[in-house]
Amino acid sequence: MSSVEWQIDVDIDADGNVLSAVVEERRELEVGDRGAEPYECDTDERRIISAYCCTCEAETTLYLEVGDSEPWEHDAAHPSHVIDYWRDT
Ligand SMILES: [Zn+2]
Repeated sequence: MSSVEWQIDVDIDADGNVLSAVVEERRELEVGDRGAEPYECDTDERRIISAYCCTCEAETTLYLEVGDSEPWEHDAAHPSHVIDYWRDT
């Protein structure tokens, strides 16, 4: 989950004229509200993880070796996309 908040910075001179207005979109990732993803678990064994991007409907299968705990590169490249991971049995 992430929250988006808008911040407006307005510079006004002594006569009340607006010099500039800057709207910033701030995305704050809430840390700690999601548990370990499947690719982060059981790094002492090989595992097959399926991943699906709910944002652009891309999908893949990750074949992770012992000690591997890297996310899908799509996840790393598009931090704003919502990715579902699940472990194939
Ligand atoms: Zn995506």
